[in-house]
Amino acid sequence: MSTAKQGAPAGNGAGARTEYDVVVIGAGFAGIYMLHRLRGMGLSARLYEAGDGAGGTWYWNRYPGAACDIESLEYSYSFSEELQQEWKWSTRFARQPEILAYINHVVDRFELRRDMQFNTRVTAAVFDEAAQRWRVSTDQGERISAQFCVMATGCLSAPKPIEYPGAQDFGGRIFHTAHWPKEPVDFSGQRVGVVGTGSSAIQCIPLIAEQAAHLHVFQRTPNFSVPAGNRPMDPDYERSVKARYAALRHKEFHSDAGIVAMLDPQTQSALQATPEERQREYETRWQAGGLYFYGSYVDLLVNREVNEELAEFARRKIRQKVRDPQVAELLCPKGYPFGAKRICADTGYFETFNRDNVSLVDIRKTPIRGLTRKGLQVGDTEYPLDCVIFATGFDAMTGALLNIDIRGRGGRTLRQKWAEGPRTYLGLMTEGFPNLFITTGPGSPSVLFNMVLGNEYHVNWITDCIAYLRSHGRGAIDATAGAEQDWCAHVNAVGEQTLFPQANSWYLGDNVPGKPRVILPYLGGFRAYSQKCEESAARDYEGFALS
Ligand code: NAP
Repeated sequence: MSTAKQGAPAGNGAGARTEYDVVVIGAGFAGIYMLHRLRGMGLSARLYEAGDGAGGTWYWNRYPGAACDIESLEYSYSFSEELQQEWKWSTRFARQPEILAYINHVVDRFELRRDMQFNTRVTAAVFDEAAQRWRVSTDQGERISAQFCVMATGCLSAPKPIEYPGAQDFGGRIFHTAHWPKEPVDFSGQRVGVVGTGSSAIQCIPLIAEQAAHLHVFQRTPNFSVPAGNRPMDPDYERSVKARYAALRHKEFHSDAGIVAMLDPQTQSALQATPEERQREYETRWQAGGLYFYGSYVDLLVNREVNEELAEFARRKIRQKVRDPQVAELLCPKGYPFGAKRICADTGYFETFNRDNVSLVDIRKTPIRGLTRKGLQVGDTEYPLDCVIFATGFDAMTGALLNIDIRGRGGRTLRQKWAEGPRTYLGLMTEGFPNLFITTGPGSPSVLFNMVLGNEYHVNWITDCIAYLRSHGRGAIDATAGAEQDWCAHVNAVGEQTLFPQANSWYLGDNVPGKPRVILPYLGGFRAYSQKCEESAARDYEGFALS
């Protein structure tokens, strides 16, 4: 296993060059593989990354307990058989430091670092219609141009700012899980508050509780969480997966969620099974850990009655774990369907509330008013704290794109175009912004599919598309307004048939005050989606205008 290398300083390796075939923004799983593919095509490319190293999500989210909830043997690149055979994961679900080490290993193994520029945030990308090129500016003062621009900016990469007044008055330390310091933080003897109970909070709370003098958890909405079931990698299991890797990858790319290593997704309706069979099925998936629940019965996320049975199964588990019945009830998610908010995977989260040094504060009933010099003010009660950790999530799927001043044809900004919510064709392009590709963008299955594989899929599609344009003497590609209109209507119609709109979640932008409520990911499944992408490409990029 290689050790993670620090990123080179801004301006490294670029020389005086200002013209490229492609500019790639973001050094997460997507950007890294994009660079590798472009290199393979002999194209010149420059990758910009705001962090001082590669890793994207896994670079920034260094909070205690950060880990993936998809098995490491699946949540890893499939494009190189040698790579997937040689890399050894130490645990079933990889923890953040190991994923970061893996990403750095990939960067070094494929010698990608020389085309990557760290500590550099892209501030603007403007399409020059006369030159048919993207003019890209950075916060380091660079101005470069490229024929193509690939936004590998990630779906959960724009953390929400603190939404309460008084942060500047607070005398203690403030953290955000998505901006965690590189140095370990010691909470021993401290009074700590965690705001939020999503995946990030649920992972860090049990570990912080072990250190802190007292931990207050400020909960607005309880979440469904499944035991992660993490453990050291079983060498026999690893060998068996590695022996069938090609077949496994094929199966993942032909599934809806891209997670199939241990349990196959069910292909039948819950109504075809008896109540006893259903309980057995839920228990099997519960014991398997991770996100296998998404694969239990095809109608789980469309039939509220079926969903409620599983929700009650999960609530029963909480009641079994939490000793104080009042606290248990407060931790039980109610009023929204199981899975319509992203389910979490935890290690001892609910049991943490049995500790004497942990208290749960219901901020749904009595909201937080703000930070004070001493702590958090909730209604009339002031909670004195030494540290406040905001685990309050992200401006998901659109935030990172809209933070950049992107201007397409006619000077129209992406912010203007997406004022009522994002509009894309297949999540890959948005009409009026030629040659600007998005990986795992809104309108694609994105966050509902194994993200490493979803990014690989998009990078492969984009690479093929650029190769096609070059071999057919075409300089530009843009989504057509009609195809985009139809696709957005389809994404919306499919989404409306599911239970997702019945929850307030980041899948619909509900978590960001003022964000338009739009179903962001495509909920029709990866199989239907990839078929559509492949059909378009096979029909000379149907739905796109080539010029
Ligand atoms: P999140 O799921 O959006 O959770 C944010 C939490 O903060 C929610 O409990 C939310 O309550 C609360 N919150 C937000 N704004 C608030 C406010 N102003 N006041 C009080 N509470 C507030 O964010 P996350 O936990 O960072 O996770 C985001 C996504 O990243 C996950 O859903 C998952 O897809 C991914 N992730 C995955 C892993 C993993 O692989 N294990 C780990 C971490 C994250 P409401 O629900 O009421 O809005």
